[in-house]
Amino acid sequence: MNAHILVAEDEPKIAGLLTDYLAAAGMQTTVIDDGAAVADAIDTLAPDLVVLDVMLPHKDGMTICRELRQHSDLPVVMLTARVEEIDRLLGLELGADDYICKPFSPREVVARIKAILRRTGNGAAGDAQAPRIDIDEPRMRVTVEGQRVELTRVEFKLLQTLLRHPGRVYRRDELLDLIYDDYREVSDRTIDSHVKNLRRKLETALPERDLIHAVYGVGYKIEVD
Ligand code: CA
Repeated sequence: MNAHILVAEDEPKIAGLLTDYLAAAGMQTTVIDDGAAVADAIDTLAPDLVVLDVMLPHKDGMTICRELRQHSDLPVVMLTARVEEIDRLLGLELGADDYICKPFSPREVVARIKAILRRTGNGAAGDAQAPRIDIDEPRMRVTVEGQRVELTRVEFKLLQTLLRHPGRVYRRDELLDLIYDDYREVSDRTIDSHVKNLRRKLETALPERDLIHAVYGVGYKIEVD
């Protein structure tokens, strides 16, 4: 089953934009434009996440969030029209999972929603499938979800190495050792810039996934599920 997102937003344009993008990402949406009806909608629909506009008619998003938190840990993403309001909202400790300022990039919002759903385990398998990464070793070709990704030799080897044991953390010196025939002349930081480039290229093919993770003070790992 795919994730069901309740969008509580009274501006039809914004609600429409969000639902279009969420639907394109495989999510089901319900839009509601009345603040007083949000709590009932949550009870009835049991959504996986709520996008909550701060300024809603009849009951504001802050009150709704605060009341919801008294009995539920349902993920909440708050929308606000003013960037300076985010600090104030954070200060109120409403318990929302994320705060987004309008105007926003719908793509960014979808990415953040997916990240929350992954973290909380809500929305079941909606996004949990591993991305399809095909590696053609003899030709040093990589396709991600069917899309060709042009990598340099070092980036290719880096990806190949990380993919051997997804989830395992590779130390920088270990990666250097595996990638270069003679790495004595190469600094640890070289790996960082190669990883950065590899990440950027993978992101082009998989905009909503962050596959390669830095482990502070240690090195890198890849997460594919
Ligand atoms: Ca509003």
